[in-house]
Amino acid sequence: MTSRTAAQPPACTDRAELLQALEALHEVDLIVIGGGASGLGVALDARLRGLSVLLLESHDFAGGTSSRATKLVHGGVRYLAQGNIGLVREALHERRALLNNAPHLAQPLAFVMPAYRPWEVPFYGAGLKIYDALAGAASLGPTEWLGRARTAQQLPGVNPRHLFGGVKYWDGQFDDARLALALARTAAAQGALLLNYCPVVDVLHERGRTRGVRWRDALDGQGARCGEVRARCVVNATGVWVDDIRRMDDAARGSATAAMVAPSQGVHLVVDRSFLPSREALLVPRTRDGRVLFAVPWLGHVILGTTDTPRHDTVREPRALPEETAFILKESAHVLAHAPLAEDVLSIWVGLRPLVRPADDEEGATKSISREHTVRVSPAGLVTVTGGKWTTYRAMAEDVLRHCEQAGLLPALPPCRTRQFPLLGAPAAGSAAIPLTELPGLHTYGSEAACVQALPGATEALGLGLTEAMVRHAVRHEYARSVEDVLARRHRMLFLDAARAAAVAPAVAAILQEEIGVDGDLEAFLQLALQYRQVPLLQP
Ligand SMILES: Cc1cc2nc3c(=O)[nH]c(=O)nc-3n(C[C@H](O)[C@H](O)[C@H](O)COP(=O)(O)OP(=O)(O)OC[C@H]3O[C@@H](n4cnc5c(N)ncnc54)[C@H](O)[C@@H]3O)c2cc1C
Repeated sequence: MTSRTAAQPPACTDRAELLQALEALHEVDLIVIGGGASGLGVALDARLRGLSVLLLESHDFAGGTSSRATKLVHGGVRYLAQGNIGLVREALHERRALLNNAPHLAQPLAFVMPAYRPWEVPFYGAGLKIYDALAGAASLGPTEWLGRARTAQQLPGVNPRHLFGGVKYWDGQFDDARLALALARTAAAQGALLLNYCPVVDVLHERGRTRGVRWRDALDGQGARCGEVRARCVVNATGVWVDDIRRMDDAARGSATAAMVAPSQGVHLVVDRSFLPSREALLVPRTRDGRVLFAVPWLGHVILGTTDTPRHDTVREPRALPEETAFILKESAHVLAHAPLAEDVLSIWVGLRPLVRPADDEEGATKSISREHTVRVSPAGLVTVTGGKWTTYRAMAEDVLRHCEQAGLLPALPPCRTRQFPLLGAPAAGSAAIPLTELPGLHTYGSEAACVQALPGATEALGLGLTEAMVRHAVRHEYARSVEDVLARRHRMLFLDAARAAAVAPAVAAILQEEIGVDGDLEAFLQLALQYRQVPLLQP
């Protein structure tokens, strides 16, 4: 594997070349299974410490949970209320590192909690002062107590009836799927080999030890293209799907696998920016049934969410329950001057939290399960990581490699370098950034904007800031293979406005046809866009 530097023009992600490289590969130091936040973080960290790394993703990078977050880079105000000080402190420091390393994709964001009862301002204000204190030098700005007039001024769109005041505090927001791609491409630029649409179909063993994987090319219609790669260490970072890989590992010993993950689903509704035309996000710390609700301005729209509903399966495209959408719409109606209705929803998407089951857990509510990550090493040496949150992906990766070292699967490694390592596209310090609250555009490409503009179709607008050149860039340099890859994760149109994404899809398919000779599963995308427009409603 060759080593490239970030100063060179963007590397090509030609699939034929990547597959050739994979087929030529017999052994590496580390194989990472899963191309979400957890796996990509491990791949970059390991590569920067000099290991040879292969990462295999069964679908698209961030195609699982990692493109469906609420988009907050946060310490977790909710976890503070639960008294989980260690988790909050670590996340607040990771928040700072992420904002520094990818300022084009992760930025500070002010939040305002509107108070409708007098005691809420001092009560929540005091809690948030502790939040500030835990951040220390990593603080993004001081918590402020706001009077009624300033709350209404900072949060145009807030429901003014019975408004008493508010508390303003600072966290961050990000573009999760584009951050995942930046991680993947940074790891590749450093010499790691990463492939999407390459599921691991078996875990290989030698003398009872985990020693590699068998992969398959999911885009080969015949299903014949497959192979094996050996490794000193295999990391299973497959989110809610970790138990599938653990079963493959345990099967070699003929032992049963107790489930490690309890999935919990979270729903988001996206509405027009006019419902909350502010630069600040809105947080309801305690809804009428004791949950948390966010209204977050993001890429020119507003995200409302989320829920926490236990699930017993791990489908790729989970559907929202009518109770979940009813909860979000009803609670939004209490705090917004204009209550959004089902017909105002432009997109609805659902993510599965990979919550780690306590060892003695039976069934039950996922709200009380720890949000911390867990690393487990199997008797054969398979290292599994799951749980945690996007904000702490970097610290999780460090912890995974520590476990690999401690288990004797990897030799003593040089120190971690990711705390201060700018990701691909990070602009020079001090350059003005367009906030992520505004519509997407060329600015999201950071220092790579000029490379995108140099491609054909730079002035051909497709809508919501997407240009023909960006689609070509997605295919040539960002591993995109389908219309969904482009419209769900390279650009976020499916998540912002599903009807608009469906309208643009044929034009994207035509560019894919020109670039790589396939229509990128246009029909499947149109079906998916339909699902993202359908808001399930409670029967009267
Ligand atoms: C509703 C919701 C809101 C959230 N909001 C936030 C937030 O605002 N801020 C925050 O910090 N965190 C948030 N999180 C948490 C965060 O999104 C997750 O912790 C994180 O994305 C998990 O990443 P992962 O890599 O572990 O899992 P995933 O992103 O699911 O990645 C696992 C990958 O493994 C792949 N895979 C599965 N099987 C195989 C196989 N056999 N071979 C190869 N690959 C395979 C999958 O396709 C998938 O891409 C939220 C989570 C949810 C559900």
